[in-house]
Amino acid sequence: MFKKILIANRGEIALRVIRTCKEMGIKTVAVYSQADVDAMHVRMADESVCIGPADSAKSYLSIPSIISACEITGSEAVHPGYGFLSENAKFAEILGDHGIKFIGPSVSHINTMGDKINAKVQMETFNVPCVPGSNGEVKDVHDANIIAKKIGYPVLLKAASGGGGIGMKIVSSDDQLETLFLQAKSEAKKSFNDDTMYMEKYLEKPRHIEIQVFGDGKGKAVHLGERDCSLQRRHQKVLEETPSPGVNSEEITKIGNICSNAISKMRYEGAGTIEFLYEKKKFFFIEMNTRLQVEHPITEAIYGVDLVREQIRIAYGMGMSLSQDTLNPKGHAIECRINAESLPTFLPSPGNIKEFHSPGGIGIRMDSAIYNGFMIPPHYDSLIGKLIVHADSRSMAISRLSRALDELIIDGVHTTVDLFKKILDEKDFNSGEYNIHWLERWLADQVK
Ligand code: ADP
Repeated sequence: MFKKILIANRGEIALRVIRTCKEMGIKTVAVYSQADVDAMHVRMADESVCIGPADSAKSYLSIPSIISACEITGSEAVHPGYGFLSENAKFAEILGDHGIKFIGPSVSHINTMGDKINAKVQMETFNVPCVPGSNGEVKDVHDANIIAKKIGYPVLLKAASGGGGIGMKIVSSDDQLETLFLQAKSEAKKSFNDDTMYMEKYLEKPRHIEIQVFGDGKGKAVHLGERDCSLQRRHQKVLEETPSPGVNSEEITKIGNICSNAISKMRYEGAGTIEFLYEKKKFFFIEMNTRLQVEHPITEAIYGVDLVREQIRIAYGMGMSLSQDTLNPKGHAIECRINAESLPTFLPSPGNIKEFHSPGGIGIRMDSAIYNGFMIPPHYDSLIGKLIVHADSRSMAISRLSRALDELIIDGVHTTVDLFKKILDEKDFNSGEYNIHWLERWLADQVK
């Protein structure tokens, strides 16, 4: 097994990876920016290396700094977490050139899936159902017009290199098309330095259902069911649950098998998530993420597996310990993403944590890197913790979550905790009748 792994990340996910490494007897190396000198991941790792200033472009995204940190510490492998360099094919390639193992899929799989147009083409070859749309790039407004007429309004303009909902525009009629197309293109150019656009039919009431997959890189593959991530704000996930209250288990088995078949045929290595929209009993592929997701703990809860351990095993070449016939989900799990943000504006609320008390008891997991007196730096994502609950049934999981949210104390900064308390009181949430637009509409109603 690897003797030492460097974690190229910060916050809760860095701690998450350190925990598994410790249980596996692997030494850990934390990297940190000057703004993170007092961060918990630095304290928890066996060794740590400062990799630059607060600006993530010069630290957590700096490939030369991270490679140097690996060399100095003699790290054999890098776990990238999520975000930052986790889906950067160049990073994986350079690590490989230095004889350091990237804990994730091959460079070519990261490349293919990182281009959403290529990803759809690839998935179609494995009979994965896709959203109807342009078959490839939409070059200009003229092209866009023809395709929009063919698939019918509303349509969604998307950036091939897109992420985080950036460069995405809904177009409901042809008089808006030109302006929005040019806007989306320039947004994509600015954010991803790639303004390649494509187009999809805009689905009006879908759920976001994603399938967790694993492959050993040699053709063995499994799926670990779904996560329903339909509660979103600005195309960003806010709360996730599994199983989905809106899809039955036969449908999941069917789409899960289609996904694991694709992973097997691709000879995909490691963890991946195949994302779908689900409407009127049909699945439509939208993208694949070639990394561990923020919401992976709900899958761990119902399957009773450690996905990071599995990633590390596979990366080392020990193969996968999972097999489809022994993977049996139990109960229901829900995750709330707790952000340091003020409501109702969702503006970031960095600052000093005066008091922090984590909820506990049966079925509770709190993944967080904050502590009493911790100063949340203003430079990074506002996610400060994930509260995950697991119970025998959905209604018990909701009661448990409600109890846990009441127990949670975070003082000194504003957080999104109250938002979850309110959502849990909603009839639509309790009946499971919500889609990807529900939260935005509900938020708009709250400020009326
Ligand atoms: P990103 O990589 O930017 O997150 P995705 O393709 O994963 O983009 O889509 C993010 C979210 O945008 C989805 O979960 C969904 O809410 C919405 N979305 C994406 N494609 C469509 C579509 N064709 N119709 C309706 N909503 C969509």
